[in-house]
Amino acid sequence: TRQAETHGFQTEVKQLLHLMIHSLYSNKEIFLRELVSNASDAADKLRFKALSDSALLGDDAELFVRVSADKDAGTITISDNGIGMTRDEVMTNLGTIAKSGTADFFSKLSGDEAKDSRLIGQFGVGFYSAFIVADSVTVRTRAAGVAANEAVEWHSKGEGEFDLRAIEKAQRGTDIILHVRDDAKEFVDEFRLRGIITKYSDHLSIPVQMPERDDDGKLTEWQAVNSGQALWTREKSDISDDEYKEFYKTIAHDFEDPLLWSHNKVEGTQEYTSLLYIPKRAPWDLWNRDQQHGIKLYVKRVFIMDDAQQLMPSYLRFVRGLMDSNDLPLNVSREILQDNKITRAMRSGSTKKVLSLLSKLAKDKPEDYQEFWNTFGTVLKEGPAEDHANQEKIASLLRFASTHEDNAEATVSLDAYIERMPEQQDKIYYIVADSYEAARDNPALEIFRKKGVEVLLLSERIDEWLMSHLTEYKEKAFQSVTRGDLDLGDLEDDAAKQQQEELENAFKDQAERFSNALGDKVKSVRATHRLTSSPACIVTDDNDMSTQMAKLMEAAGQ
Ligand code: ADP
Ligand code: MG
Repeated sequence: TRQAETHGFQTEVKQLLHLMIHSLYSNKEIFLRELVSNASDAADKLRFKALSDSALLGDDAELFVRVSADKDAGTITISDNGIGMTRDEVMTNLGTIAKSGTADFFSKLSGDEAKDSRLIGQFGVGFYSAFIVADSVTVRTRAAGVAANEAVEWHSKGEGEFDLRAIEKAQRGTDIILHVRDDAKEFVDEFRLRGIITKYSDHLSIPVQMPERDDDGKLTEWQAVNSGQALWTREKSDISDDEYKEFYKTIAHDFEDPLLWSHNKVEGTQEYTSLLYIPKRAPWDLWNRDQQHGIKLYVKRVFIMDDAQQLMPSYLRFVRGLMDSNDLPLNVSREILQDNKITRAMRSGSTKKVLSLLSKLAKDKPEDYQEFWNTFGTVLKEGPAEDHANQEKIASLLRFASTHEDNAEATVSLDAYIERMPEQQDKIYYIVADSYEAARDNPALEIFRKKGVEVLLLSERIDEWLMSHLTEYKEKAFQSVTRGDLDLGDLEDDAAKQQQEELENAFKDQAERFSNALGDKVKSVRATHRLTSSPACIVTDDNDMSTQMAKLMEAAGQ
Protein backbone atom coordinates (compact mmCIF):
# COMPACT_ATOMS: atom_id res chain seq x y z
CA THR A 1 0.00 0.00 0.00
CA ARG A 2 1.01 3.55 -0.66
CA GLN A 3 1.56 6.34 1.81
CA ALA A 4 -1.53 8.22 3.03
CA GLU A 5 -1.67 12.01 3.11
CA THR A 6 -3.65 13.83 5.78
CA HIS A 7 -5.79 16.86 4.92
CA GLY A 8 -7.93 19.14 7.06
CA PHE A 9 -11.62 19.64 6.39
CA GLN A 10 -12.78 23.09 5.39
CA THR A 11 -14.07 24.90 8.51
CA GLU A 12 -17.67 24.75 7.30
CA VAL A 13 -17.46 20.98 6.98
CA LYS A 14 -16.36 20.70 10.59
CA GLN A 15 -19.24 22.90 11.64
CA LEU A 16 -21.72 20.94 9.56
CA LEU A 17 -20.49 17.62 10.93
CA HIS A 18 -20.79 18.83 14.47
CA LEU A 19 -24.26 20.25 13.97
CA MET A 20 -25.50 17.22 12.10
CA ILE A 21 -24.45 14.74 14.71
CA HIS A 22 -26.07 16.84 17.43
CA SER A 23 -29.30 17.79 15.76
CA LEU A 24 -30.19 14.86 13.55
CA TYR A 25 -29.89 12.08 16.10
CA SER A 26 -33.67 11.57 16.00
CA ASN A 27 -33.62 11.21 12.24
CA LYS A 28 -30.66 8.91 11.79
CA GLU A 29 -32.01 6.76 9.00
CA ILE A 30 -31.72 9.53 6.40
CA PHE A 31 -28.02 8.70 5.99
CA LEU A 32 -29.07 5.80 3.79
CA ARG A 33 -31.36 7.93 1.65
CA GLU A 34 -28.48 10.37 1.08
CA LEU A 35 -25.86 7.76 0.26
CA VAL A 36 -28.13 5.73 -2.00
CA SER A 37 -29.25 8.89 -3.75
CA ASN A 38 -25.60 9.86 -4.33
CA ALA A 39 -24.95 6.39 -5.77
CA SER A 40 -27.96 6.75 -8.02
CA ASP A 41 -26.80 10.23 -9.11
CA ALA A 42 -23.41 8.69 -9.94
CA ALA A 43 -25.16 6.18 -12.21
CA ASP A 44 -27.20 8.96 -13.83
CA LYS A 45 -24.07 11.00 -14.47
CA LEU A 46 -22.26 8.07 -16.03
CA ARG A 47 -25.23 7.22 -18.24
CA PHE A 48 -25.35 10.82 -19.41
CA LYS A 49 -21.63 11.01 -20.12
CA ALA A 50 -21.72 7.68 -21.93
CA LEU A 51 -24.20 9.13 -24.43
CA SER A 52 -21.27 10.86 -26.10
CA ASP A 53 -18.56 8.37 -25.06
CA SER A 54 -19.96 4.86 -24.92
CA ALA A 55 -16.52 3.38 -24.17
CA LEU A 56 -16.89 4.68 -20.62
CA LEU A 57 -19.33 1.90 -19.77
CA GLY A 58 -16.86 -0.78 -20.90
CA ASP A 59 -18.00 -4.30 -20.06
CA ASP A 60 -19.73 -3.11 -16.92
CA ALA A 61 -22.85 -1.57 -18.48
CA GLU A 62 -25.54 -2.76 -16.07
CA LEU A 63 -25.59 0.00 -13.51
CA PHE A 64 -26.59 -0.75 -9.93
CA VAL A 65 -26.38 0.26 -6.30
CA ARG A 66 -25.61 -2.42 -3.70
CA VAL A 67 -26.23 -2.20 0.02
CA SER A 68 -25.10 -4.77 2.57
CA ALA A 69 -24.30 -5.12 6.26
CA ASP A 70 -21.66 -7.14 8.13
CA LYS A 71 -22.67 -7.77 11.74
CA ASP A 72 -19.27 -9.17 12.79
CA ALA A 73 -17.37 -6.20 11.43
CA GLY A 74 -20.09 -3.72 12.47
CA THR A 75 -20.15 -2.15 9.00
CA ILE A 76 -22.59 -1.10 6.30
CA THR A 77 -21.38 -0.87 2.71
CA ILE A 78 -22.99 1.09 -0.12
CA SER A 79 -21.46 0.42 -3.54
CA ASP A 80 -22.15 1.62 -7.04
CA ASN A 81 -20.57 1.21 -10.46
CA GLY A 82 -21.38 4.77 -11.49
CA ILE A 83 -19.12 7.59 -12.51
CA GLY A 84 -16.76 7.45 -9.53
CA MET A 85 -14.41 10.27 -8.51
CA THR A 86 -10.89 11.29 -9.42
CA ARG A 87 -8.48 12.31 -6.67
CA ASP A 88 -9.25 15.99 -7.22
CA GLU A 89 -12.96 15.34 -7.10
CA VAL A 90 -12.59 13.44 -3.84
CA MET A 91 -10.67 16.39 -2.37
CA THR A 92 -13.40 18.88 -3.27
CA ASN A 93 -16.52 16.78 -2.84
CA LEU A 94 -15.54 15.08 0.40
CA GLY A 95 -13.43 17.81 1.97
CA THR A 96 -15.32 21.04 1.36
CA ILE A 97 -18.84 22.27 0.86
CA ALA A 98 -18.93 23.55 -2.68
CA LYS A 99 -22.45 24.96 -2.57
CA SER A 100 -23.03 28.63 -3.21
CA GLY A 101 -24.43 30.50 -0.26
CA THR A 102 -22.75 28.28 2.30
CA ALA A 103 -21.56 31.20 4.42
CA ASP A 104 -25.05 32.62 4.29
CA PHE A 105 -26.42 29.31 5.52
CA PHE A 106 -24.10 29.18 8.50
CA SER A 107 -25.02 32.71 9.45
CA LYS A 108 -28.65 31.60 9.73
CA LEU A 109 -28.03 28.90 12.31
CA SER A 110 -29.45 29.86 15.67
CA GLY A 111 -28.25 27.22 18.11
CA ASP A 112 -31.84 26.09 18.59
CA GLU A 113 -31.63 22.41 17.72
CA ALA A 114 -35.14 21.96 16.34
CA LYS A 115 -34.80 24.99 14.06
CA ASP A 116 -31.29 24.17 13.01
CA SER A 117 -32.06 20.58 12.18
CA ARG A 118 -34.76 21.75 9.79
CA LEU A 119 -32.36 24.20 8.18
CA ILE A 120 -29.70 21.53 7.85
CA GLY A 121 -32.27 19.29 6.24
CA GLN A 122 -33.04 21.92 3.65
CA PHE A 123 -29.39 22.73 3.09
CA GLY A 124 -28.84 19.11 2.21
CA VAL A 125 -26.72 17.03 4.58
CA GLY A 126 -25.60 14.82 1.70
CA PHE A 127 -22.52 12.68 2.02
CA TYR A 128 -21.55 13.98 5.46
CA SER A 129 -24.71 12.43 6.92
CA ALA A 130 -22.72 9.19 6.95
CA PHE A 131 -21.28 10.45 10.24
CA ILE A 132 -24.69 10.47 11.89
CA VAL A 133 -24.34 6.70 12.23
CA ALA A 134 -20.63 6.07 11.64
CA ASP A 135 -17.57 6.87 13.73
CA SER A 136 -15.34 6.22 10.77
CA VAL A 137 -16.00 6.17 7.04
CA THR A 138 -13.94 4.76 4.19
CA VAL A 139 -14.61 5.70 0.57
CA ARG A 140 -12.93 3.71 -2.20
CA THR A 141 -13.53 5.16 -5.62
CA ARG A 142 -12.38 4.78 -9.20
CA ALA A 143 -13.57 7.27 -11.81
CA ALA A 144 -14.92 6.09 -15.17
CA GLY A 145 -12.15 5.96 -17.75
CA VAL A 146 -9.37 5.89 -15.13
CA ALA A 147 -6.95 2.97 -14.69
CA ALA A 148 -7.44 0.41 -11.88
CA ASN A 149 -4.25 1.50 -10.10
CA GLU A 150 -5.27 5.15 -10.05
CA ALA A 151 -8.18 4.66 -7.70
CA VAL A 152 -8.37 6.61 -4.43
CA GLU A 153 -9.16 5.79 -0.83
CA TRP A 154 -10.54 8.45 1.51
CA HIS A 155 -10.79 7.76 5.20
CA SER A 156 -12.02 9.90 8.08
CA LYS A 157 -13.29 9.75 11.63
CA GLY A 158 -15.25 12.94 10.98
CA GLU A 159 -13.14 14.87 13.45
CA GLY A 160 -11.51 17.59 11.44
CA GLU A 161 -9.33 15.70 8.99
CA PHE A 162 -9.28 12.97 6.40
CA ASP A 163 -6.63 10.71 4.85
CA LEU A 164 -6.17 10.12 1.15
CA ARG A 165 -4.13 7.44 -0.55
CA ALA A 166 -3.84 5.84 -3.96
CA ILE A 167 -5.18 2.28 -4.21
CA GLU A 168 -5.93 -0.37 -6.76
CA LYS A 169 -9.63 -1.00 -7.43
CA ALA A 170 -10.84 -3.58 -9.93
CA GLN A 171 -14.29 -2.14 -10.63
CA ARG A 172 -15.34 1.33 -11.69
CA GLY A 173 -17.43 3.29 -9.17
CA THR A 174 -17.55 3.92 -5.46
CA ASP A 175 -17.72 1.84 -2.26
CA ILE A 176 -18.67 3.60 0.93
CA ILE A 177 -17.93 1.64 4.08
CA LEU A 178 -19.46 2.87 7.33
CA HIS A 179 -18.05 1.71 10.60
CA VAL A 180 -21.19 2.09 12.67
CA ARG A 181 -21.15 3.74 16.12
CA ASP A 182 -22.40 1.86 19.13
CA ASP A 183 -25.57 3.92 19.45
CA ALA A 184 -26.57 3.12 15.86
CA LYS A 185 -25.91 -0.61 15.74
CA GLU A 186 -29.61 -1.24 14.96
CA PHE A 187 -28.79 -0.26 11.37
CA VAL A 188 -26.25 -3.05 10.93
CA ASP A 189 -29.12 -5.27 9.91
CA GLU A 190 -30.07 -6.00 6.33
CA PHE A 191 -33.72 -6.39 7.15
CA ARG A 192 -33.80 -2.93 8.68
CA LEU A 193 -31.83 -1.43 5.78
CA ARG A 194 -34.20 -2.96 3.31
CA GLY A 195 -37.15 -1.28 5.04
CA ILE A 196 -35.44 2.12 4.78
CA ILE A 197 -34.64 1.60 1.12
CA THR A 198 -38.24 0.74 0.27
CA LYS A 199 -39.35 3.81 2.13
CA TYR A 200 -37.00 6.33 0.54
CA SER A 201 -35.58 4.87 -2.60
CA ASP A 202 -38.29 2.75 -4.16
CA HIS A 203 -38.84 5.25 -6.97
CA LEU A 204 -35.21 5.29 -8.16
CA SER A 205 -34.91 4.00 -11.69
CA ILE A 206 -31.62 2.32 -10.87
CA PRO A 207 -31.85 -1.11 -9.21
CA VAL A 208 -30.89 -1.00 -5.54
CA GLN A 209 -29.73 -4.52 -4.72
CA MET A 210 -29.26 -6.39 -1.45
CA PRO A 211 -27.81 -9.84 -0.77
CA GLU A 212 -29.83 -13.02 -0.82
CA ARG A 213 -28.16 -15.27 1.73
CA ASP A 214 -28.12 -19.00 2.47
CA ASP A 215 -28.57 -20.46 5.95
CA ASP A 216 -24.93 -19.81 6.81
CA GLY A 217 -25.36 -16.17 5.91
CA LYS A 218 -23.32 -16.53 2.73
CA LEU A 219 -24.28 -14.37 -0.23
CA THR A 220 -25.99 -16.38 -2.96
CA GLU A 221 -27.06 -13.55 -5.26
CA TRP A 222 -27.86 -9.84 -5.42
CA GLN A 223 -31.55 -8.98 -5.63
CA ALA A 224 -33.19 -5.67 -6.42
CA VAL A 225 -35.29 -4.44 -3.51
CA ASN A 226 -36.84 -1.37 -5.12
CA SER A 227 -39.52 -1.39 -7.81
CA GLY A 228 -37.00 0.20 -10.16
CA GLN A 229 -39.49 2.27 -12.07
CA ALA A 230 -39.11 6.04 -11.99
CA LEU A 231 -42.07 7.28 -9.99
CA TRP A 232 -43.24 9.89 -12.48
CA THR A 233 -43.50 7.35 -15.29
CA ARG A 234 -46.15 5.39 -13.40
CA GLU A 235 -49.88 5.95 -13.65
CA LYS A 236 -51.15 8.58 -11.23
CA SER A 237 -53.84 6.23 -9.98
CA ASP A 238 -51.18 3.69 -8.96
CA ILE A 239 -49.18 6.13 -6.85
CA SER A 240 -50.13 6.68 -3.21
CA ASP A 241 -49.91 10.04 -1.46
CA ASP A 242 -47.18 8.61 0.75
CA GLU A 243 -45.12 7.70 -2.30
CA TYR A 244 -45.50 11.22 -3.68
CA LYS A 245 -44.45 12.66 -0.32
CA GLU A 246 -41.38 10.45 0.10
CA PHE A 247 -40.32 11.23 -3.44
CA TYR A 248 -40.59 14.92 -2.66
CA LYS A 249 -38.43 14.58 0.44
CA THR A 250 -35.74 12.84 -1.57
CA ILE A 251 -35.56 15.31 -4.41
CA ALA A 252 -36.15 18.45 -2.37
CA HIS A 253 -34.00 17.47 0.65
CA ASP A 254 -36.89 18.45 2.88
CA PHE A 255 -37.84 16.74 6.12
CA GLU A 256 -41.42 17.86 5.83
CA ASP A 257 -44.27 16.88 3.58
CA PRO A 258 -44.96 19.17 0.64
CA LEU A 259 -47.96 21.51 0.70
CA LEU A 260 -49.28 20.14 -2.60
CA TRP A 261 -48.21 18.67 -5.89
CA SER A 262 -49.29 18.16 -9.45
CA HIS A 263 -48.34 15.28 -11.72
CA ASN A 264 -49.09 15.74 -15.41
CA LYS A 265 -48.58 13.85 -18.61
CA VAL A 266 -48.79 16.27 -21.50
CA GLU A 267 -49.44 14.84 -24.94
CA GLY A 268 -49.92 16.44 -28.36
CA THR A 269 -47.38 18.58 -30.20
CA GLN A 270 -45.15 18.39 -27.11
CA GLU A 271 -44.78 15.30 -25.02
CA TYR A 272 -43.52 15.59 -21.50
CA THR A 273 -44.28 14.64 -17.95
CA SER A 274 -44.02 17.06 -15.10
CA LEU A 275 -44.14 16.42 -11.38
CA LEU A 276 -44.22 19.72 -9.52
CA TYR A 277 -44.29 20.31 -5.79
CA ILE A 278 -44.98 23.34 -3.64
CA PRO A 279 -43.10 23.11 -0.34
CA LYS A 280 -44.59 24.08 2.99
CA ARG A 281 -41.59 26.05 4.11
CA ALA A 282 -39.32 28.50 2.37
CA PRO A 283 -35.86 27.15 1.59
CA TRP A 284 -33.16 28.86 3.61
CA ASP A 285 -31.78 30.50 0.46
CA LEU A 286 -34.98 31.80 -1.14
CA TRP A 287 -33.46 35.27 -1.27
CA ASN A 288 -30.03 34.24 -2.44
CA ARG A 289 -29.43 35.44 -5.99
CA ASP A 290 -27.55 32.28 -6.89
CA GLN A 291 -30.28 30.16 -5.45
CA GLN A 292 -30.65 26.92 -7.32
CA HIS A 293 -33.96 26.50 -8.99
CA GLY A 294 -35.57 23.32 -8.03
CA ILE A 295 -36.48 21.74 -11.36
CA LYS A 296 -34.59 18.71 -12.59
CA LEU A 297 -34.60 17.98 -16.30
CA TYR A 298 -34.85 14.47 -17.70
CA VAL A 299 -35.00 13.47 -21.34
CA LYS A 300 -36.69 10.16 -22.02
CA ARG A 301 -36.15 9.19 -18.38
CA VAL A 302 -32.42 9.94 -18.52
CA PHE A 303 -31.34 12.52 -15.96
CA ILE A 304 -29.84 15.55 -17.73
CA MET A 305 -29.40 18.31 -15.17
CA ASP A 306 -30.37 19.81 -11.85
CA ASP A 307 -31.49 23.36 -11.59
CA ALA A 308 -32.89 23.80 -15.10
CA GLN A 309 -33.72 27.49 -14.73
CA GLN A 310 -35.29 27.74 -18.16
CA LEU A 311 -38.13 25.50 -17.09
CA MET A 312 -39.67 27.75 -14.46
CA PRO A 313 -39.88 31.54 -14.20
CA SER A 314 -37.95 33.12 -11.38
CA TYR A 315 -41.07 34.22 -9.46
CA LEU A 316 -41.98 30.53 -9.08
CA ARG A 317 -38.51 29.56 -7.90
CA PHE A 318 -39.91 27.88 -4.80
CA VAL A 319 -41.42 25.10 -6.95
CA ARG A 320 -39.55 21.79 -6.71
CA GLY A 321 -39.79 18.78 -8.96
CA LEU A 322 -38.90 17.58 -12.40
CA MET A 323 -39.82 17.55 -16.05
CA ASP A 324 -39.16 14.67 -18.39
CA SER A 325 -39.28 15.52 -22.10
CA ASN A 326 -39.77 13.11 -24.95
CA ASP A 327 -38.84 15.71 -27.57
CA LEU A 328 -35.55 17.27 -26.46
CA PRO A 329 -32.33 15.70 -27.74
CA LEU A 330 -30.39 13.68 -25.16
CA ASN A 331 -27.31 15.82 -25.73
CA VAL A 332 -29.15 18.97 -24.76
CA SER A 333 -26.99 21.67 -23.15
CA ARG A 334 -27.86 24.71 -21.06
CA GLU A 335 -27.23 26.84 -24.16
CA ILE A 336 -29.72 24.86 -26.22
CA LEU A 337 -32.27 25.10 -23.43
CA GLN A 338 -31.94 28.86 -23.37
CA ASP A 339 -33.61 29.49 -26.66
CA ASN A 340 -35.68 26.55 -27.56
CA LYS A 341 -39.27 26.11 -28.69
CA ILE A 342 -39.68 22.92 -26.71
CA THR A 343 -38.37 24.38 -23.45
CA ARG A 344 -40.52 27.47 -23.90
CA ALA A 345 -43.63 25.32 -24.28
CA MET A 346 -42.72 23.26 -21.22
CA ARG A 347 -42.09 26.39 -19.22
CA SER A 348 -45.30 28.07 -20.22
CA GLY A 349 -47.33 24.89 -19.68
CA SER A 350 -45.94 24.28 -16.23
CA THR A 351 -46.23 27.95 -15.23
CA LYS A 352 -49.94 27.77 -16.03
CA LYS A 353 -50.14 24.52 -14.13
CA VAL A 354 -48.61 25.99 -10.98
CA LEU A 355 -50.76 29.13 -11.16
CA SER A 356 -53.96 27.15 -11.50
CA LEU A 357 -52.85 24.80 -8.74
CA LEU A 358 -52.52 27.86 -6.50
CA SER A 359 -55.87 29.31 -7.62
CA LYS A 360 -57.53 26.05 -6.79
CA LEU A 361 -55.90 25.99 -3.38
CA ALA A 362 -57.03 29.57 -2.73
CA LYS A 363 -60.58 28.62 -3.62
CA ASP A 364 -60.82 25.23 -1.92
CA LYS A 365 -58.59 25.71 1.13
CA PRO A 366 -58.24 29.42 1.89
CA GLU A 367 -56.40 28.73 5.15
CA ASP A 368 -53.74 26.64 3.44
CA TYR A 369 -53.49 29.27 0.76
CA GLN A 370 -52.96 31.95 3.39
CA GLU A 371 -50.10 29.90 4.81
CA PHE A 372 -48.63 29.60 1.33
CA TRP A 373 -49.01 33.35 0.84
CA ASN A 374 -47.32 34.17 4.13
CA THR A 375 -44.36 32.00 3.08
CA PHE A 376 -43.96 32.72 -0.63
CA GLY A 377 -46.16 35.75 -1.35
CA THR A 378 -43.25 38.16 -1.60
CA VAL A 379 -41.68 36.02 -4.32
CA LEU A 380 -44.95 35.77 -6.22
CA LYS A 381 -45.09 39.58 -6.22
CA GLU A 382 -42.19 39.52 -8.72
CA GLY A 383 -44.62 37.87 -11.13
CA PRO A 384 -46.53 40.77 -12.71
CA ALA A 385 -43.25 42.39 -13.78
CA GLU A 386 -41.70 39.17 -15.04
CA ASP A 387 -44.65 37.51 -16.73
CA HIS A 388 -47.00 39.82 -18.61
CA ALA A 389 -48.88 37.00 -20.24
CA ASN A 390 -50.10 35.72 -16.88
CA GLN A 391 -50.43 39.06 -15.14
CA GLU A 392 -54.16 38.86 -14.45
CA LYS A 393 -53.88 35.33 -13.13
CA ILE A 394 -51.00 36.27 -10.83
CA ALA A 395 -52.83 39.40 -9.68
CA SER A 396 -55.77 37.25 -8.62
CA LEU A 397 -53.37 35.34 -6.33
CA LEU A 398 -52.00 38.43 -4.58
CA ARG A 399 -53.05 39.24 -1.02
CA PHE A 400 -52.95 42.63 0.66
CA ALA A 401 -53.51 44.31 3.97
CA SER A 402 -56.32 46.82 3.64
CA THR A 403 -58.29 49.45 5.54
CA HIS A 404 -61.17 46.97 5.54
CA GLU A 405 -59.37 44.53 7.82
CA ASP A 406 -57.39 46.82 10.10
CA ASN A 407 -54.73 44.16 10.45
CA ALA A 408 -51.16 43.90 9.22
CA GLU A 409 -51.57 40.42 7.77
CA ALA A 410 -52.08 40.40 4.01
CA THR A 411 -55.37 38.56 3.50
CA VAL A 412 -57.42 40.64 1.05
CA SER A 413 -57.62 39.53 -2.58
CA LEU A 414 -58.33 41.91 -5.43
CA ASP A 415 -61.54 40.02 -6.11
CA ALA A 416 -62.72 40.58 -2.55
CA TYR A 417 -61.81 44.26 -2.87
CA ILE A 418 -63.77 44.64 -6.10
CA GLU A 419 -66.76 42.89 -4.63
CA ARG A 420 -66.89 45.44 -1.81
CA MET A 421 -66.52 48.46 -4.12
CA PRO A 422 -69.43 50.93 -4.01
CA GLU A 423 -71.17 51.27 -7.35
CA GLN A 424 -69.70 54.71 -8.19
CA GLN A 425 -66.12 53.56 -7.55
CA ASP A 426 -64.16 52.61 -10.67
CA LYS A 427 -60.58 52.42 -9.36
CA ILE A 428 -58.63 50.24 -7.00
CA TYR A 429 -57.02 52.52 -4.42
CA TYR A 430 -53.75 51.70 -2.71
CA ILE A 431 -50.92 53.25 -0.77
CA VAL A 432 -47.28 52.16 -0.54
CA ALA A 433 -45.30 53.09 2.58
CA ASP A 434 -42.31 51.93 4.64
CA SER A 435 -44.33 49.97 7.14
CA TYR A 436 -47.86 48.80 7.70
CA GLU A 437 -48.31 51.48 10.38
CA ALA A 438 -46.99 54.23 8.13
CA ALA A 439 -49.42 53.16 5.42
CA ARG A 440 -52.34 52.85 7.82
CA ASP A 441 -51.72 56.22 9.46
CA ASN A 442 -51.03 58.21 6.31
CA PRO A 443 -53.24 61.33 6.29
CA ALA A 444 -54.04 60.74 2.61
CA LEU A 445 -56.38 57.97 3.75
CA GLU A 446 -58.63 60.29 5.73
CA ILE A 447 -60.95 61.16 2.87
CA PHE A 448 -61.26 57.47 1.96
CA ARG A 449 -62.15 56.52 5.49
CA LYS A 450 -64.71 59.30 5.56
CA LYS A 451 -66.31 58.05 2.38
CA GLY A 452 -66.07 54.40 3.37
CA VAL A 453 -63.78 53.53 0.45
CA GLU A 454 -61.34 50.66 1.01
CA VAL A 455 -57.62 51.25 0.39
CA LEU A 456 -54.97 48.53 0.02
CA LEU A 457 -52.05 49.06 2.41
CA LEU A 458 -48.72 48.00 0.91
CA SER A 459 -45.47 48.10 2.82
CA GLU A 460 -43.01 45.53 1.48
CA ARG A 461 -39.84 46.59 -0.28
CA ILE A 462 -41.02 45.05 -3.52
CA ASP A 463 -44.45 46.70 -3.51
CA GLU A 464 -43.49 49.86 -5.37
CA TRP A 465 -41.95 47.72 -8.07
CA LEU A 466 -45.04 45.53 -8.15
CA MET A 467 -47.42 48.48 -8.48
CA SER A 468 -45.38 50.06 -11.24
CA HIS A 469 -46.09 46.96 -13.33
CA LEU A 470 -49.62 46.29 -12.26
CA THR A 471 -51.77 48.89 -13.95
CA GLU A 472 -55.18 47.29 -13.92
CA TYR A 473 -57.12 44.27 -12.76
CA LYS A 474 -60.40 43.18 -14.31
CA GLU A 475 -60.54 46.50 -16.17
CA LYS A 476 -60.20 48.54 -12.98
CA ALA A 477 -57.19 50.84 -12.90
CA PHE A 478 -54.95 50.99 -9.83
CA GLN A 479 -54.68 54.42 -8.26
CA SER A 480 -52.22 55.51 -5.60
CA VAL A 481 -53.90 57.69 -2.97
CA THR A 482 -50.76 59.79 -2.50
CA ARG A 483 -50.89 61.22 -5.99
CA GLY A 484 -51.45 65.01 -5.97
CA ASP A 485 -54.29 65.46 -8.36
CA LEU A 486 -56.02 62.35 -7.16
CA ASP A 487 -59.23 62.00 -9.08
CA LEU A 488 -61.93 60.52 -6.93
CA GLY A 489 -64.19 60.34 -9.98
CA ASP A 490 -67.83 59.78 -9.18
CA LEU A 491 -67.00 59.35 -5.51
CA GLU A 492 -66.59 63.10 -5.28
CA ASP A 493 -69.88 64.98 -5.05
CA ASP A 494 -70.52 68.47 -6.44
CA ALA A 495 -70.65 70.04 -3.01
CA ALA A 496 -67.15 68.77 -2.28
CA LYS A 497 -65.84 70.18 -5.54
CA GLN A 498 -67.24 73.54 -4.70
CA GLN A 499 -65.81 73.33 -1.20
CA GLN A 500 -62.40 72.60 -2.66
CA GLU A 501 -62.54 75.71 -4.87
CA GLU A 502 -63.55 77.89 -1.96
CA LEU A 503 -60.77 76.49 0.17
CA GLU A 504 -58.15 77.12 -2.48
CA ASN A 505 -59.24 80.71 -2.77
CA ALA A 506 -59.38 81.25 0.96
CA PHE A 507 -55.88 79.85 1.55
CA LYS A 508 -54.22 81.30 -1.52
CA ASP A 509 -51.95 83.65 0.42
CA GLN A 510 -50.87 81.07 2.96
CA ALA A 511 -50.11 78.55 0.22
CA GLU A 512 -47.95 81.12 -1.53
CA ARG A 513 -46.04 81.86 1.66
CA PHE A 514 -45.38 78.17 2.27
CA SER A 515 -44.32 77.79 -1.31
CA ASN A 516 -41.83 80.67 -1.09
CA ALA A 517 -40.45 79.42 2.20
CA LEU A 518 -39.91 75.88 0.92
CA GLY A 519 -38.51 77.02 -2.41
CA ASP A 520 -37.09 74.23 -4.58
CA LYS A 521 -38.02 71.57 -2.09
CA VAL A 522 -41.58 71.42 -3.38
CA LYS A 523 -43.30 71.77 -6.71
CA SER A 524 -46.41 73.45 -5.34
CA VAL A 525 -48.44 73.97 -2.19
CA ARG A 526 -52.20 73.47 -2.30
CA ALA A 527 -55.11 73.65 0.08
CA THR A 528 -57.24 70.51 0.29
CA HIS A 529 -60.51 69.40 1.81
CA ARG A 530 -59.38 65.79 1.88
CA LEU A 531 -57.67 65.90 5.22
CA THR A 532 -59.98 65.56 8.16
CA SER A 533 -57.67 65.44 11.16
CA SER A 534 -54.10 66.10 9.93
CA PRO A 535 -52.94 69.62 9.07
CA ALA A 536 -50.83 68.68 6.03
CA CYS A 537 -49.50 65.83 3.89
CA ILE A 538 -46.94 65.29 1.15
CA VAL A 539 -48.11 63.98 -2.21
CA THR A 540 -46.52 63.44 -5.63
CA ASP A 541 -47.58 64.30 -9.15
CA ASP A 542 -48.88 61.57 -11.41
CA ASN A 543 -45.81 61.61 -13.64
CA ASP A 544 -43.26 61.96 -10.89
CA MET A 545 -41.52 59.21 -9.08
CA SER A 546 -43.38 58.24 -5.96
CA THR A 547 -41.67 59.04 -2.66
CA GLN A 548 -41.28 55.32 -2.07
CA MET A 549 -39.60 54.73 -5.43
CA ALA A 550 -37.35 57.75 -4.82
CA LYS A 551 -36.23 56.11 -1.55
CA LEU A 552 -35.51 52.85 -3.36
CA MET A 553 -33.43 54.62 -5.98
CA GLU A 554 -31.58 56.49 -3.28
CA ALA A 555 -30.87 53.23 -1.45
CA ALA A 556 -29.55 51.78 -4.70
CA GLY A 557 -27.15 54.73 -5.01
CA GLN A 558 -28.96 56.47 -7.89
P1 ADP B 1 -24.97 16.53 -3.47
O1 ADP B 1 -25.40 15.13 -3.72
O2 ADP B 1 -26.12 17.41 -3.08
O3 ADP B 1 -24.14 17.13 -4.55
P2 ADP B 1 -23.42 15.33 -1.40
O4 ADP B 1 -22.79 15.84 -0.15
O5 ADP B 1 -24.42 14.25 -1.24
O6 ADP B 1 -24.04 16.56 -2.15
O7 ADP B 1 -22.28 14.80 -2.35
C1 ADP B 1 -21.22 15.67 -2.69
C2 ADP B 1 -20.60 15.28 -4.00
O8 ADP B 1 -19.80 14.12 -3.84
C3 ADP B 1 -21.61 14.90 -5.08
O9 ADP B 1 -22.08 16.03 -5.77
C4 ADP B 1 -20.75 14.02 -5.97
O10 ADP B 1 -20.02 14.80 -6.88
C5 ADP B 1 -19.80 13.35 -5.01
N1 ADP B 1 -20.25 12.00 -4.67
C6 ADP B 1 -20.85 11.60 -3.53
N2 ADP B 1 -21.13 10.29 -3.56
C7 ADP B 1 -20.70 9.84 -4.76
C8 ADP B 1 -20.71 8.55 -5.43
N3 ADP B 1 -21.24 7.47 -4.84
N4 ADP B 1 -20.17 8.49 -6.66
C9 ADP B 1 -19.64 9.58 -7.25
N5 ADP B 1 -19.62 10.80 -6.70
C10 ADP B 1 -20.14 10.94 -5.46
MG1 MG C 1 -26.27 13.93 -2.37
